[in-house]
Amino acid sequence: MIPAAFDYARASSLEEALSLLAEHGDEAKLLAGGHSLLPLMKLRLATPSVLVDLGRLEELAYVRDEGEHLAVGALTTHHDLSRNALVRRHLPVLAHVAGQIGDPQVRHRGTIGGSLAHGDAASDLPAVVLALGGTLVAEGRGGRREIEASEFHEGFLETALGPEEVLVEIRLRKPAHTGFGFEKLTKRAQDWAIVGAVAARRDDLPGGVGVALVNMAPVPVRALSVESALAEGVPVPEAAEQADAEADPSADINASVAYRRHLAHVLVRRALEKALS
Ligand SMILES: Cc1cc2nc3c(=O)[nH]c(=O)nc-3n(C[C@H](O)[C@H](O)[C@H](O)COP(=O)(O)OP(=O)(O)OC[C@H]3O[C@@H](n4cnc5c(N)ncnc54)[C@H](O)[C@@H]3O)c2cc1C
Repeated sequence: MIPAAFDYARASSLEEALSLLAEHGDEAKLLAGGHSLLPLMKLRLATPSVLVDLGRLEELAYVRDEGEHLAVGALTTHHDLSRNALVRRHLPVLAHVAGQIGDPQVRHRGTIGGSLAHGDAASDLPAVVLALGGTLVAEGRGGRREIEASEFHEGFLETALGPEEVLVEIRLRKPAHTGFGFEKLTKRAQDWAIVGAVAARRDDLPGGVGVALVNMAPVPVRALSVESALAEGVPVPEAAEQADAEADPSADINASVAYRRHLAHVLVRRALEKALS
Protein backbone atom coordinates (compact mmCIF):
# COMPACT_ATOMS: atom_id res chain seq x y z
CA MET A 1 0.00 0.00 0.00
CA ILE A 2 2.98 2.32 -0.44
CA PRO A 3 3.26 4.05 -3.83
CA ALA A 4 6.40 3.80 -5.92
CA ALA A 5 8.69 6.84 -5.62
CA PHE A 6 7.63 9.90 -7.60
CA ASP A 7 8.50 13.56 -7.99
CA TYR A 8 5.91 16.19 -7.20
CA ALA A 9 5.32 19.50 -8.97
CA ARG A 10 2.58 21.90 -7.99
CA ALA A 11 1.36 23.89 -10.98
CA SER A 12 0.62 27.51 -10.21
CA SER A 13 -1.20 28.08 -13.52
CA LEU A 14 -2.77 26.03 -16.29
CA GLU A 15 0.06 27.16 -18.54
CA GLU A 16 2.61 25.76 -16.11
CA ALA A 17 0.70 22.47 -15.87
CA LEU A 18 0.74 22.16 -19.67
CA SER A 19 4.50 22.88 -19.76
CA LEU A 20 5.15 20.24 -17.09
CA LEU A 21 3.10 17.70 -19.06
CA ALA A 22 5.03 18.53 -22.22
CA GLU A 23 8.33 18.20 -20.35
CA HIS A 24 7.57 14.83 -18.73
CA GLY A 25 5.25 13.24 -21.33
CA ASP A 26 3.87 9.80 -20.47
CA GLU A 27 5.83 9.73 -17.21
CA ALA A 28 3.63 12.45 -15.68
CA LYS A 29 0.14 12.22 -14.22
CA LEU A 30 -2.16 15.07 -13.28
CA LEU A 31 -3.34 15.16 -9.68
CA ALA A 32 -6.68 16.81 -8.84
CA GLY A 33 -8.46 15.57 -5.69
CA GLY A 34 -6.32 12.43 -5.62
CA HIS A 35 -9.20 10.21 -4.52
CA SER A 36 -8.95 7.92 -7.53
CA LEU A 37 -5.30 8.33 -8.52
CA LEU A 38 -3.70 7.83 -5.10
CA PRO A 39 -5.49 4.52 -4.41
CA LEU A 40 -4.25 3.27 -7.80
CA MET A 41 -0.72 4.42 -6.96
CA LYS A 42 -0.83 2.71 -3.56
CA LEU A 43 -1.76 -0.53 -5.32
CA ARG A 44 1.00 0.20 -7.87
CA LEU A 45 -1.55 0.00 -10.66
CA ALA A 46 -0.35 3.50 -11.57
CA THR A 47 3.34 4.34 -11.24
CA PRO A 48 3.84 7.87 -12.60
CA SER A 49 7.30 9.24 -12.01
CA VAL A 50 5.99 12.82 -11.73
CA LEU A 51 2.74 14.11 -10.27
CA VAL A 52 1.60 17.48 -11.60
CA ASP A 53 -0.73 18.88 -8.96
CA LEU A 54 -3.62 20.95 -10.34
CA GLY A 55 -5.22 21.21 -6.92
CA ARG A 56 -4.46 24.92 -6.32
CA LEU A 57 -5.66 26.10 -9.75
CA GLU A 58 -8.61 28.22 -8.68
CA GLU A 59 -8.92 29.37 -12.29
CA LEU A 60 -10.37 25.90 -13.02
CA ALA A 61 -12.85 25.82 -10.11
CA TYR A 62 -16.01 27.69 -11.14
CA VAL A 63 -19.58 27.46 -12.34
CA ARG A 64 -20.63 30.11 -14.86
CA ASP A 65 -23.94 30.87 -16.51
CA GLU A 66 -23.15 31.15 -20.21
CA GLY A 67 -26.73 31.74 -21.36
CA GLU A 68 -27.83 28.46 -22.93
CA HIS A 69 -25.43 26.36 -20.89
CA LEU A 70 -23.59 26.21 -17.60
CA ALA A 71 -19.81 26.04 -17.80
CA VAL A 72 -18.29 24.02 -14.97
CA GLY A 73 -14.55 24.21 -14.32
CA ALA A 74 -12.88 20.79 -14.12
CA LEU A 75 -11.49 21.46 -10.63
CA THR A 76 -14.93 22.09 -9.13
CA THR A 77 -15.37 19.67 -6.24
CA HIS A 78 -18.36 17.40 -5.76
CA HIS A 79 -19.19 19.37 -2.59
CA ASP A 80 -19.17 22.71 -4.41
CA LEU A 81 -21.31 21.30 -7.24
CA SER A 82 -23.85 20.03 -4.75
CA ARG A 83 -24.10 23.46 -3.09
CA ASN A 84 -23.80 25.79 -6.08
CA ALA A 85 -26.92 27.93 -6.60
CA LEU A 86 -26.66 27.91 -10.42
CA VAL A 87 -26.28 24.14 -10.54
CA ARG A 88 -29.12 23.59 -8.11
CA ARG A 89 -31.39 25.86 -10.13
CA HIS A 90 -30.59 24.78 -13.69
CA LEU A 91 -29.17 21.27 -13.34
CA PRO A 92 -30.45 19.87 -10.05
CA VAL A 93 -29.57 16.36 -11.23
CA LEU A 94 -25.89 17.30 -11.14
CA ALA A 95 -26.16 18.87 -7.67
CA HIS A 96 -28.09 15.88 -6.36
CA VAL A 97 -25.73 13.22 -7.70
CA ALA A 98 -22.59 15.14 -6.65
CA GLY A 99 -24.05 15.36 -3.15
CA GLN A 100 -24.43 11.55 -2.98
CA ILE A 101 -20.86 10.62 -3.94
CA GLY A 102 -18.79 8.75 -1.38
CA ASP A 103 -18.59 10.59 1.95
CA PRO A 104 -17.91 14.23 2.92
CA GLN A 105 -14.14 13.75 2.69
CA VAL A 106 -14.42 12.40 -0.87
CA ARG A 107 -16.83 15.16 -1.86
CA HIS A 108 -14.57 17.92 -0.51
CA ARG A 109 -11.50 16.67 -2.42
CA GLY A 110 -12.89 14.87 -5.50
CA THR A 111 -13.47 16.94 -8.62
CA ILE A 112 -15.79 16.59 -11.59
CA GLY A 113 -12.81 16.74 -13.95
CA GLY A 114 -11.02 13.98 -12.03
CA SER A 115 -14.12 11.82 -12.08
CA LEU A 116 -14.51 12.21 -15.85
CA ALA A 117 -10.81 11.90 -16.69
CA HIS A 118 -10.33 8.85 -14.47
CA GLY A 119 -12.85 7.06 -16.69
CA ASP A 120 -14.26 4.57 -14.21
CA ALA A 121 -17.69 3.44 -15.44
CA ALA A 122 -18.68 2.81 -11.80
CA SER A 123 -18.47 6.56 -11.15
CA ASP A 124 -21.67 8.55 -11.12
CA LEU A 125 -20.85 11.92 -12.69
CA PRO A 126 -19.75 10.53 -16.09
CA ALA A 127 -23.22 9.00 -16.51
CA VAL A 128 -24.87 12.30 -15.51
CA VAL A 129 -22.80 14.27 -18.02
CA LEU A 130 -23.64 11.65 -20.68
CA ALA A 131 -27.38 11.75 -19.93
CA LEU A 132 -27.27 15.57 -20.16
CA GLY A 133 -25.40 15.48 -23.48
CA GLY A 134 -22.48 17.49 -22.14
CA THR A 135 -19.47 18.80 -24.00
CA LEU A 136 -16.00 18.49 -22.50
CA VAL A 137 -13.28 21.02 -23.20
CA ALA A 138 -9.66 19.84 -23.29
CA GLU A 139 -6.69 22.18 -23.45
CA GLY A 140 -3.22 21.35 -24.72
CA ARG A 141 -0.32 23.56 -25.77
CA GLY A 142 -1.88 23.77 -29.24
CA GLY A 143 -5.13 25.24 -27.88
CA ARG A 144 -8.57 24.02 -26.86
CA ARG A 145 -10.83 21.40 -28.38
CA GLU A 146 -14.33 20.18 -27.59
CA ILE A 147 -15.20 16.52 -27.07
CA GLU A 148 -18.81 15.31 -26.87
CA ALA A 149 -19.52 13.29 -23.72
CA SER A 150 -20.58 10.38 -25.95
CA GLU A 151 -17.06 10.33 -27.48
CA PHE A 152 -15.06 10.91 -24.32
CA HIS A 153 -14.91 7.50 -22.64
CA GLU A 154 -13.20 5.02 -24.93
CA GLY A 155 -12.62 1.99 -22.68
CA PHE A 156 -11.99 0.98 -19.09
CA LEU A 157 -10.02 3.90 -17.55
CA GLU A 158 -9.38 5.21 -21.09
CA THR A 159 -10.52 8.55 -22.39
CA ALA A 160 -10.12 10.67 -25.50
CA LEU A 161 -7.73 13.02 -23.65
CA GLY A 162 -4.22 13.12 -25.04
CA PRO A 163 -1.26 12.65 -22.63
CA GLU A 164 -0.47 16.36 -22.82
CA GLU A 165 -4.03 17.63 -22.42
CA VAL A 166 -5.90 18.90 -19.38
CA LEU A 167 -9.66 18.65 -19.09
CA VAL A 168 -10.56 22.24 -18.28
CA GLU A 169 -14.33 22.63 -18.56
CA ILE A 170 -17.61 20.77 -18.84
CA ARG A 171 -20.49 22.49 -20.69
CA LEU A 172 -24.03 21.43 -19.93
CA ARG A 173 -27.16 22.80 -21.61
CA LYS A 174 -29.76 24.28 -19.30
CA PRO A 175 -33.07 22.43 -19.86
CA ALA A 176 -36.38 24.29 -19.56
CA HIS A 177 -37.73 21.46 -17.41
CA THR A 178 -35.29 20.20 -14.80
CA GLY A 179 -37.04 16.96 -13.79
CA PHE A 180 -34.70 14.07 -13.10
CA GLY A 181 -34.37 10.72 -11.43
CA PHE A 182 -31.20 9.11 -10.08
CA GLU A 183 -31.21 5.58 -8.74
CA LYS A 184 -28.15 3.84 -7.37
CA LEU A 185 -27.97 0.43 -5.73
CA THR A 186 -25.16 0.11 -3.20
CA LYS A 187 -24.43 -2.23 -0.33
CA ARG A 188 -23.30 0.64 1.92
CA ALA A 189 -24.30 4.30 1.57
CA GLN A 190 -20.84 5.56 0.55
CA ASP A 191 -20.08 2.79 -1.96
CA TRP A 192 -19.80 2.96 -5.73
CA ALA A 193 -22.94 1.84 -7.53
CA ILE A 194 -23.47 -1.86 -8.23
CA VAL A 195 -25.66 -0.35 -10.95
CA GLY A 196 -26.89 3.22 -11.27
CA ALA A 197 -29.38 4.94 -13.58
CA VAL A 198 -29.82 8.61 -14.46
CA ALA A 199 -32.81 10.07 -16.28
CA ALA A 200 -32.72 13.80 -16.99
CA ARG A 201 -35.26 15.90 -18.88
CA ARG A 202 -33.83 17.45 -22.06
CA ASP A 203 -35.46 19.81 -24.58
CA ASP A 204 -33.21 18.74 -27.43
CA LEU A 205 -34.26 15.08 -27.55
CA PRO A 206 -37.45 13.81 -29.24
CA GLY A 207 -38.35 11.70 -26.19
CA GLY A 208 -37.53 14.61 -23.86
CA VAL A 209 -35.30 12.54 -21.54
CA GLY A 210 -31.63 11.56 -21.57
CA VAL A 211 -30.92 8.21 -19.92
CA ALA A 212 -27.54 6.77 -18.89
CA LEU A 213 -26.28 3.88 -16.80
CA VAL A 214 -23.51 3.50 -14.23
CA ASN A 215 -21.42 0.32 -14.06
CA MET A 216 -23.14 -1.54 -16.90
CA ALA A 217 -20.11 -1.73 -19.26
CA PRO A 218 -16.43 -0.70 -19.27
CA VAL A 219 -17.66 2.83 -20.07
CA PRO A 220 -20.72 4.82 -19.01
CA VAL A 221 -23.66 3.73 -21.19
CA ARG A 222 -26.26 5.92 -22.84
CA ALA A 223 -29.54 3.99 -22.98
CA LEU A 224 -30.43 5.06 -26.52
CA SER A 225 -33.06 2.32 -26.98
CA VAL A 226 -34.97 3.63 -23.97
CA GLU A 227 -34.77 7.19 -25.28
CA SER A 228 -36.04 6.06 -28.73
CA ALA A 229 -38.88 4.05 -27.20
CA LEU A 230 -39.99 7.11 -25.23
CA ALA A 231 -39.84 9.21 -28.41
CA GLU A 232 -42.22 6.70 -30.06
CA GLY A 233 -44.66 7.03 -27.16
CA VAL A 234 -43.91 3.66 -25.55
CA PRO A 235 -45.00 3.77 -21.87
CA VAL A 236 -42.24 4.00 -19.26
CA PRO A 237 -42.43 0.40 -17.91
CA GLU A 238 -42.04 -1.07 -21.41
CA ALA A 239 -39.41 1.49 -22.45
CA ALA A 240 -37.39 0.61 -19.33
CA GLU A 241 -37.26 -3.01 -20.47
CA GLN A 242 -34.80 -1.78 -23.13
CA ALA A 243 -32.45 -0.39 -20.46
CA ASP A 244 -29.69 -2.94 -20.99
CA ALA A 245 -29.84 -3.01 -24.81
CA GLU A 246 -26.61 -1.01 -25.22
CA ALA A 247 -24.96 -2.41 -22.06
CA ASP A 248 -22.19 -4.96 -21.71
CA PRO A 249 -22.04 -5.69 -17.98
CA SER A 250 -19.55 -7.95 -16.20
CA ALA A 251 -20.01 -10.20 -13.23
CA ASP A 252 -18.11 -9.41 -10.03
CA ILE A 253 -18.31 -10.11 -6.32
CA ASN A 254 -21.39 -7.87 -6.02
CA ALA A 255 -23.56 -9.00 -8.93
CA SER A 256 -23.94 -11.48 -11.78
CA VAL A 257 -24.49 -10.26 -15.33
CA ALA A 258 -28.17 -11.30 -15.16
CA TYR A 259 -28.70 -9.43 -11.89
CA ARG A 260 -27.07 -6.28 -13.30
CA ARG A 261 -29.36 -6.43 -16.34
CA HIS A 262 -32.38 -6.85 -14.06
CA LEU A 263 -31.24 -3.91 -11.94
CA ALA A 264 -30.87 -1.74 -15.04
CA HIS A 265 -34.52 -2.35 -15.96
CA VAL A 266 -35.78 -1.62 -12.46
CA LEU A 267 -33.59 1.43 -11.79
CA VAL A 268 -34.24 3.02 -15.19
CA ARG A 269 -37.99 2.60 -14.68
CA ARG A 270 -37.78 4.26 -11.27
CA ALA A 271 -35.53 7.05 -12.55
CA LEU A 272 -37.88 7.75 -15.46
CA GLU A 273 -40.94 7.79 -13.22
CA LYS A 274 -39.27 10.42 -11.05
CA ALA A 275 -38.00 12.47 -13.99
CA LEU A 276 -41.42 12.57 -15.65
CA SER A 277 -43.59 13.02 -12.53
C1 LIG B 1 -13.90 6.05 -0.49
C2 LIG B 1 -14.26 6.58 -1.86
C3 LIG B 1 -15.58 6.49 -2.25
C4 LIG B 1 -15.95 6.96 -3.52
N1 LIG B 1 -17.26 6.85 -3.91
C5 LIG B 1 -17.62 7.30 -5.12
C6 LIG B 1 -18.97 7.20 -5.55
O1 LIG B 1 -19.87 6.74 -4.84
N2 LIG B 1 -19.27 7.67 -6.80
C7 LIG B 1 -18.34 8.22 -7.60
O2 LIG B 1 -18.68 8.64 -8.70
N3 LIG B 1 -17.06 8.34 -7.22
C8 LIG B 1 -16.68 7.88 -6.01
N4 LIG B 1 -15.38 8.01 -5.62
C9 LIG B 1 -14.40 8.60 -6.55
C10 LIG B 1 -14.30 10.10 -6.31
O3 LIG B 1 -15.44 10.74 -6.82
C11 LIG B 1 -13.03 10.66 -6.99
O4 LIG B 1 -12.70 11.80 -6.32
C12 LIG B 1 -13.13 11.00 -8.45
O5 LIG B 1 -13.53 9.91 -9.21
C13 LIG B 1 -11.78 11.44 -8.99
O6 LIG B 1 -11.63 12.78 -8.78
P1 LIG B 1 -10.29 13.38 -8.21
O7 LIG B 1 -10.41 14.85 -8.35
O8 LIG B 1 -10.05 12.82 -6.87
O9 LIG B 1 -9.23 12.84 -9.30
P2 LIG B 1 -7.75 12.31 -9.11
O10 LIG B 1 -7.74 11.08 -8.28
O11 LIG B 1 -6.83 13.40 -8.71
O12 LIG B 1 -7.42 11.93 -10.64
C14 LIG B 1 -8.07 10.85 -11.27
C15 LIG B 1 -7.53 10.70 -12.69
O13 LIG B 1 -7.94 11.78 -13.50
C16 LIG B 1 -6.80 12.51 -14.00
N5 LIG B 1 -7.19 13.92 -13.92
C17 LIG B 1 -7.67 14.57 -12.84
N6 LIG B 1 -8.04 15.81 -13.17
C18 LIG B 1 -7.77 15.96 -14.49
C19 LIG B 1 -7.95 17.01 -15.42
N7 LIG B 1 -8.50 18.19 -15.06
N8 LIG B 1 -7.58 16.81 -16.70
C20 LIG B 1 -7.06 15.62 -17.08
N9 LIG B 1 -6.86 14.58 -16.26
C21 LIG B 1 -7.23 14.75 -14.97
C22 LIG B 1 -5.65 12.12 -13.11
O14 LIG B 1 -4.41 12.21 -13.79
C23 LIG B 1 -6.00 10.69 -12.76
O15 LIG B 1 -5.62 9.84 -13.81
C24 LIG B 1 -14.98 7.55 -4.37
C25 LIG B 1 -13.65 7.65 -3.95
C26 LIG B 1 -13.29 7.17 -2.71
C27 LIG B 1 -11.85 7.28 -2.28
